[in-house]
Amino acid sequence: MNSPAHPGVLRAALAPDGCLLSADGPLLALQREAGGDLGTPIALPQIAAVARLSRRLGVAVSRPVVAAAERGDIDMWVRARPEGEAVHLAIIDWHERPAATLSPDPAARDSDIAALADGWIWQIDTQLRFQMTLAGDDRQGALPPDAPVPGTRFSGYFDLKPDEEGDMAMLRGLTQRRAFSGQIAALVGNGDRLFRLSGFPLFDMAGQLIGYRGAALPMEHIVVAPFRADPAISLYPADFSKRLDRSLRQPLGRIIANADTIGAQMEGPLRPDYADYAQDIASAGRHLMALVDDLADLQAIDRPDFSVVAEEVDLADLGRRAAGLLGVKALDRGIAIVAPETDCAVNAIGEFRRVLQILVNLVGNALRYAPEGSLVRIVTEQQHGEACIMVIDQGPGIAMADRERIFDKFERLGRDDAGGSGLGLYISRRLARAMGGDIHIDGEPGEGARFILSLPAME
Ligand code: ADP
Repeated sequence: MNSPAHPGVLRAALAPDGCLLSADGPLLALQREAGGDLGTPIALPQIAAVARLSRRLGVAVSRPVVAAAERGDIDMWVRARPEGEAVHLAIIDWHERPAATLSPDPAARDSDIAALADGWIWQIDTQLRFQMTLAGDDRQGALPPDAPVPGTRFSGYFDLKPDEEGDMAMLRGLTQRRAFSGQIAALVGNGDRLFRLSGFPLFDMAGQLIGYRGAALPMEHIVVAPFRADPAISLYPADFSKRLDRSLRQPLGRIIANADTIGAQMEGPLRPDYADYAQDIASAGRHLMALVDDLADLQAIDRPDFSVVAEEVDLADLGRRAAGLLGVKALDRGIAIVAPETDCAVNAIGEFRRVLQILVNLVGNALRYAPEGSLVRIVTEQQHGEACIMVIDQGPGIAMADRERIFDKFERLGRDDAGGSGLGLYISRRLARAMGGDIHIDGEPGEGARFILSLPAME
């Protein structure tokens, strides 16, 4: 490919009717290749959609876009800003690559994925929560009896394994919004059961990522457990909560998956306000699902028999994993996450999945509450028998007076947006303390938030 990347910014302007007023060279060439020119409507549908959204909302909107050119696909990051009657476009990160093998047509993609790999099918949303699972057509496509429940976290079911070069195909795919294959994963809690995962991204009509669908191929034959009749409803609280959990998650997962399908207009065009309702239903469903998750965690950690496993964990590795898991969310918000270097290791004692849960919560908060275009740093440190990992953002920070009460149950510091429950930090601190550590807030007021998770260091 002749010009695989354009450093710097490419600019263009669109008239109120969507016609291209001006464009820098490579973009104009792409417009001409697609049959348009200056003075005709922009012929690249994803860019047109970003511009329309920005004009409709009256604010700047940024989105990753993949444009199909004759010589391959072009990945770019498009920022549209309304100015008077016109919309100005700034395009950064222009990268050309050979065309993706998966068709952009959803129906064709479904058959691609069927051909891509055997096994059972899963679908996750952008929060990396399972939305649905389906049995595949072949013998190895049987859903395992312990298949993930919709709404549960992907990382709570699959533990991704790096390949010989330390690479994780799925994480790389997620951050670049591309298809991936050959990702080996073990079942959390049963490292002997291995799967080979492959998947591809799902986009809505505006070019926004809505999740991933893929296949899980068991690497050995699954031994199907003999069917056992359900015992009568147990009165043990743990059992009861598991049942309640399942009976809430299953229908919620189906509501979200269906609302996403309707909102993305995969089944055909829809009046715009109906598509918006569908998206509102999906986001309300996700919020409820997150609440079910938090409440289930809350119930678990408040039980007298709650315990954590003491294992050797590497905080730097966990920091990198949390950054990888939230890469898509960071990209959506235009925030860069700087994770510890790969040669950095800080060993501590804690439970792997619980430490990851805390870090995903802290980094997730940083992505939610810090402004677009800012930086989130994850830094590790070891001192006086303690191992620490810090999540530092460039947002509004936490006032001195709020630094303790922020850890109270349901405390949101007066926020009433639908995005949270006020339980994340409460649960995180309880988990940290159960592992012999703690979470504190440090840093000067007005300097951005700096959350420090400390755990006992390895001797
Ligand atoms: P949630 O995020 O669901 O509201 P949390 O317990 O995780 O619940 O956080 C409680 C509150 O603390 C949030 O509502 C927000 O007001 C504040 N907060 C948490 N993290 C940050 C951060 N990084 N920057 C600014 N405020 C934060």
